[in-house]
Amino acid sequence: MTKRMFTTPACISCHKTSEVELDSKDVERWQGGELIQNVWPDISAEDRELLMTGIHSICWNAMFSEAAEEAVAFIDFLIEGD
Ligand SMILES: [Zn+2]
Repeated sequence: MTKRMFTTPACISCHKTSEVELDSKDVERWQGGELIQNVWPDISAEDRELLMTGIHSICWNAMFSEAAEEAVAFIDFLIEGD
């Protein structure tokens, strides 16, 4: 098995790319159009997100909790009215 470093797209939150060591044959299969879940059946949702979009799970969680906080603030605003 030959390993190669794969550079992910830039994360939309922190704008950083990540380097992931992967089997070069697997990368070829994936880039050749095979579904990511077929190439890496045991991959976690976080890792799949990282490979496909570059979004880190911590960044994703941060964005999600920020969005949730905004939603809660908006609901409070609606309840309180003016
Ligand atoms: Zn990030």
